[in-house]
Amino acid sequence: MNTYTNIDFHCHSTASDGALSPTALVACAAEAGIDCLALTDHDTVAGLAEARQAADQRGMHFVNGVEISVTWSNKTLHIVGLGVDPTHPVLEQALSAVQHGRSERAKQIAERLEKLGVADAYSRALALADGGQLTRTHFARLLVQAGVSKDLKQAFKQHLGNGKPAAVRAQWLALDTAIDAIKSSGGVSVLAHPLRYDMTGAWRARMYAAFAEAGGQAVEVSSGVSQQPDELATCQKEAIRHQLLGSVGSDFHGPEQRWIRHGRLAPVPRGVRPVWEAFPGLLGAAGGATL
Ligand code: AMP
Ligand code: MN
Ligand code: MN
Ligand code: MN
Repeated sequence: MNTYTNIDFHCHSTASDGALSPTALVACAAEAGIDCLALTDHDTVAGLAEARQAADQRGMHFVNGVEISVTWSNKTLHIVGLGVDPTHPVLEQALSAVQHGRSERAKQIAERLEKLGVADAYSRALALADGGQLTRTHFARLLVQAGVSKDLKQAFKQHLGNGKPAAVRAQWLALDTAIDAIKSSGGVSVLAHPLRYDMTGAWRARMYAAFAEAGGQAVEVSSGVSQQPDELATCQKEAIRHQLLGSVGSDFHGPEQRWIRHGRLAPVPRGVRPVWEAFPGLLGAAGGATL
């Protein structure tokens, strides 16, 4: 029996907007003491094979994951799929639809940045993405590189954050389409970072209800971007009220986000059933967890 003590079910590599290659990300996770890791890149499974190989070499348990962009009630939500089969045709088709939307939106973002004086914004962002999914993070890096913004946070605050001039609204997948794709491919659906959608409590209640209604199973109660005791208590209360399982994920994107730690997340709070207890296959044949 392998008993994992440091699980991280949400992070990114260069296959989307992470700063580290899948291999380097696994090395970084090992250094942080993580023994059970899911890679969950935005709208792609392209990094999984490399990450799995690196994890196998280190004896780290690895879970195939993805973070799918969804539009629900005119808002963007992120649904993490854990334990997906990356070769499943339904998942592949869903991801290719989102990827198409991503590259169309990127062209529109680039046009707006060019008006701000950033020349060749599209090709430069593409070069920064280096074959990975093109995200707003790449445009933020470009704004820093071009000397327009002093750091990534400022780039979002001034230009790329929701409601700012270069934030082009995207039409992502429908909630039920994303959940069906995750389920069809054998995975479990997790509502990512529930407190990061800039919603009132009433809107969050509607979001959880819609997520559960569409077949969603778990919520990221312990997130690297919400680790304060009051945030954990809010997630605990809401998971219990909506009868959702609990997951843990840092949303680590690389050392450039100094405020997010990889791994060592707060445990799933009392009264919330961990997603790996309901779906033990996530931990492998001989897996267990204490955290
Ligand atoms: P996209 O899916 O292309 O809209 O890009 C969303 C990504 O941008 C998120 O996954 C974060 O990694 C990043 N992001 C969004 N808002 C911020 C922010 N305020 N500061 C830093 N990164 C952000
Ligand atoms: Mn991201
Ligand atoms: Mn996200
Ligand atoms: Mn993420």
